[in-house]
Amino acid sequence: MRNEEKAMIVEAHAATAAKQALSLQQIDLGPLGPNEVDIRVTHCGICHTDVGMVDNEWGFSRYPLVPGHEIVGIVAAVGANVAGLAIGQRAGLGALCGSCMTCEYCERGAQHVCKDAVGTIFGHHGGFATHVRAADWRFVFALPDAIPSEHAGPLMCAGSTVFTPFVHYDVRPTDRVAIVGIGGLGHLALQYAAKWGCEVTAISTTPDKREEAHGFGAHHFVVSAEEGALRRVRGAFDFVLSTVAVDLPWSDYIAALRPQGALCIVGTSPTPVPVGLYELLSGERSVVGGKTGAIDDTRQMLAFTARHQIAPMIETFPMAQANAALDRTRRGTVRYRAVLVA
Ligand SMILES: [Zn+2]
Ligand SMILES: [Zn+2]
Repeated sequence: MRNEEKAMIVEAHAATAAKQALSLQQIDLGPLGPNEVDIRVTHCGICHTDVGMVDNEWGFSRYPLVPGHEIVGIVAAVGANVAGLAIGQRAGLGALCGSCMTCEYCERGAQHVCKDAVGTIFGHHGGFATHVRAADWRFVFALPDAIPSEHAGPLMCAGSTVFTPFVHYDVRPTDRVAIVGIGGLGHLALQYAAKWGCEVTAISTTPDKREEAHGFGAHHFVVSAEEGALRRVRGAFDFVLSTVAVDLPWSDYIAALRPQGALCIVGTSPTPVPVGLYELLSGERSVVGGKTGAIDDTRQMLAFTARHQIAPMIETFPMAQANAALDRTRRGTVRYRAVLVA
């Protein structure tokens, strides 16, 4: 079926100004372009970036803004150039829904750092809607049968974001890895690290997450707020993955690295990270950033997740309660990911 000429009216939960409650709106996505894919949304996870974009936390939100970039649904229409996706099939879409496909980064398979990458909720309408349109079919993923739709949503952003650093920074199965923060990202990162084969330490400010952290595969649990806790893990880790969106005692975390270890930050901390050069130079340590994966990373993440039966812990809400679910995410009270169900 080719649908290039028709307008496409969708019903979306949209914010019309910063920090406003979402309201139901009709949005015309226009005619379908040759590389585009429309997905009828069945499930959509909620990420902290959705809250940040609704609230204009970074100053570049454009309204009306339809959040939602952990999308699962059914392919409803495909453009003329689309290959390998059939109408009626189940598919997932994450934080990116297109890129230029011709720059050096796209050509080497690093579409996630393409300067023209299309963010699913950056100047583009996301998945809190009846339908979402991907700018490029190559960012729409067939989902392994073993992954239920309500679990697949959080994998598309959170899962991809915490899985990708293991690939890009060559984390080895023999490495000692710390995951900082047990939330939407961290609870998945613990599972990936454990299934990767690593010796895994969960670091949290919340002592009552201990049992769950062990359930996610952590071998050790450190309560960072306890006096001397970070001193006791000096030089302990080859890889530290920070998933929190707050400022940390960064020098303690750099000091927790073994020689040639890396601190990888995937959470958006509010203030710059001060880095003491002595630790970096003397032990060849590094501080690096991570973001959602490229196309192949996401595909590998889905296969790895299915093979190892990794699953997010979720709370589901009907799509009509998008505001309540968004607010729970804003307040950080969801354990560990909210998922809207259409
Ligand atoms: Zn996200
Ligand atoms: Zn590109």
